[in-house]
Amino acid sequence: MDEHLQELERHFRAYAPYYRKIGLKIERDPGYVEQCAESEPLLVVQHMSIPERYCSGRAIKTKTGRKLCGLSNLERVIAIEQLAYGDAGVFLTAPGPSLSGVVLNELGSEEQKESFFSRFNDRPMWTFFALTEPERGSDATMIRTRLKAADEDKRFYSLSGEKYFIGNVLRASCGVVFARVAEGALGIEAVLVEKNDPVRFRAQPLETFGLRALQVSHLVFDGMPIPESQLLGQHLSKGQRGILAAVKMFNQRRTGVAACALGVVKAVMDLVSDERKTFNEKDKETISRLEYRLNSTRQVIRKAAEIADQDPQNGYYASLSKVMAVSLVEDVTTFAVQMLGPSAFLENPFLNKCYRDARGFEYLEGTSNMQKLNIFQHYMTGKVALA
Ligand SMILES: Cc1cc2nc3c(=O)[nH]c(=O)nc-3n(C[C@H](O)[C@H](O)[C@H](O)COP(=O)(O)OP(=O)(O)OC[C@H]3O[C@@H](n4cnc5c(N)ncnc54)[C@H](O)[C@@H]3O)c2cc1C
Repeated sequence: MDEHLQELERHFRAYAPYYRKIGLKIERDPGYVEQCAESEPLLVVQHMSIPERYCSGRAIKTKTGRKLCGLSNLERVIAIEQLAYGDAGVFLTAPGPSLSGVVLNELGSEEQKESFFSRFNDRPMWTFFALTEPERGSDATMIRTRLKAADEDKRFYSLSGEKYFIGNVLRASCGVVFARVAEGALGIEAVLVEKNDPVRFRAQPLETFGLRALQVSHLVFDGMPIPESQLLGQHLSKGQRGILAAVKMFNQRRTGVAACALGVVKAVMDLVSDERKTFNEKDKETISRLEYRLNSTRQVIRKAAEIADQDPQNGYYASLSKVMAVSLVEDVTTFAVQMLGPSAFLENPFLNKCYRDARGFEYLEGTSNMQKLNIFQHYMTGKVALA
């Protein structure tokens, strides 16, 4: 890592203790995140997702004066690993443009981008990203939420349907929703939806095992009126917008989920060595294998992030990094419980939380089976060679 990336890593490492301090409280009382949102460790997450040209003079800076907005994917994975070392749930519930920001940046007209990103400059604000539907998660081309013209001039549309497992929606002001205007994969559009109509846009939180602070919810749109100006990518061809924008967005941000899982891996491994001072030979061997996987996964994540910065169409490495990180975080949290015994699971609430959060990463931005299919398709089409 060059000097700049090392400084960035040090800068974000300093936020981790605060994340650790508030993580369990936010899990128990998700509304608490709103009270902490003005603090620098949370606000920085918002700033890092605002493209530099829309970032106001208030941007948080490193000691050497580097503005922490518009971070590249490589910079993000370095930052996210450190934040998730503190607490992954806090990072995922911090305010900001998040996945909707990537779609806006990709598909929005200049006017839409300016109006969307300027809303983040004076206060913490949350967004949601709604793609998954009940029983239609992995295959996004099957979505059924409908967007229909509501008048002859197509100045207003009407949005109806359901979305499932949508994070942060309860505290969000707006978010990107994917909906169908016609049959087929090219009949899907992305639209920016304001959360301002509690009758025609309802959100019901769901019970989850891990990542509880996200309060993933079941959304119902019941003829929600959408002005034509909220449709994204209308200046682009059908082949460049809609679901293809989602794929591009996932290719870029999947490495962030992998980095988040890796932060939890490192936190749990440190916890095991702090809590249990002596290990037998077999355990030492297991630990050294896990450490080897931690280092190699980190290298793959950083490489994948660099590739995503250069070519957002290339999702092979991002998928690989996520498969590796998810399998490692599940193995490490299971190993920690074996090492420290069942009482640790009860007595150490942070370990308990990491164990549960680790199972959530499998689903964020596509399951491991879908990542493996993506890797396989790249291999079969000759876009990637196995070493
Ligand atoms: C904590 C959390 C937060 C989330 N946040 C969001 C959010 O903010 N926005 C959003 O849109 N979604 C969100 N999701 C939803 C997530 O993206 C989906 O859960 C995920 O895409 C899987 O979809 P599904 O749950 O419908 O499972 P399914 O698609 O029903 O899959 C079930 C199982 O079948 C396997 N499978 C499916 N198809 C195939 C195939 N072709 N080949 C092999 N195996 C297959 C899958 O790998 C999985 O193991 C979130 C989920 C969780 C758990």
